[in-house]
Amino acid sequence: MRKTAGNAIGILSAIVLAVNLVFVTTKSEGTADVRVPVILYHNIVDSLAGQDLLVSITPDTFRAHMTALKNAGYTGITFDEYYDYVNGGGGLPEKPVIITLDDGYLSNYQYAWPILRSLGMKATIFIVTSTVGASTGVSYPHFTWEQAREMEQSGVIDIQSHSHSHEEIPAMDDAAVVRELRLSKYLIEENLGKECRYFAYPYGMYDERALSAASAAGYRLQCLLGNSGYNTKDTPAEKLRRITVWGDRSGESLAELVEETVRGNPFGEPEEIVQEEFVQDETEESPGSE
Ligand SMILES: [Zn+2]
Repeated sequence: MRKTAGNAIGILSAIVLAVNLVFVTTKSEGTADVRVPVILYHNIVDSLAGQDLLVSITPDTFRAHMTALKNAGYTGITFDEYYDYVNGGGGLPEKPVIITLDDGYLSNYQYAWPILRSLGMKATIFIVTSTVGASTGVSYPHFTWEQAREMEQSGVIDIQSHSHSHEEIPAMDDAAVVRELRLSKYLIEENLGKECRYFAYPYGMYDERALSAASAAGYRLQCLLGNSGYNTKDTPAEKLRRITVWGDRSGESLAELVEETVRGNPFGEPEEIVQEEFVQDETEESPGSE
């Protein structure tokens, strides 16, 4: 009888110990690293009719996306904040998100900026320096340097480089690769009086020459595209992952997508659909359409 009770207590103690171990392990894993999603937009258009949903969204839907993120507790952060965090120099809000817009469309100035400003959500615009202020020879007008300065000065928008020509970098000769990275950086720094430290590869296309030229030019981080998940301290600085947002998603669906991605489930959808979207993403954007 005594022996049985002793055994029972022994077994109970073992179970309590095991439960504690599981609890402690889970807790330490949960606080290991912050997962930072980066989301990607392009142009903002009045109607989605006839538009490529990978690069187009209406002002109302963009506002719904930003509002849904804010309501879900997300804070828009800059790449400086992310870089400082990764390098041990600063903390991050509980639910950080980096909002990016590529190419430098005038619609970013007209629609995205006022929406972001009213919600207090910071965002980064990656511009193509050869088309700043362009209204001809491009699919849609692009904002001017003056407008870029205005957005920068509001403290909401961070302007960074998306190359000078928006051509495919792997197809260029060595000198052109260096020029794309250095000239765009120089023009942003000259025109905006700030340091340009972040680069987004046109079409997400890069090669070894581009990676070393970017590093030599002084870029701290570089972004790809596609739907490959979140970023942590372990993500390579030259290959940050971004989530391309389709223009027909509702605000609620966008917030869910970001939440699912942070949980480790890009797009919250079956693997084969993610693959399909990734392939389409790589091929749909052509140099002419930006
Ligand atoms: Zn682009």
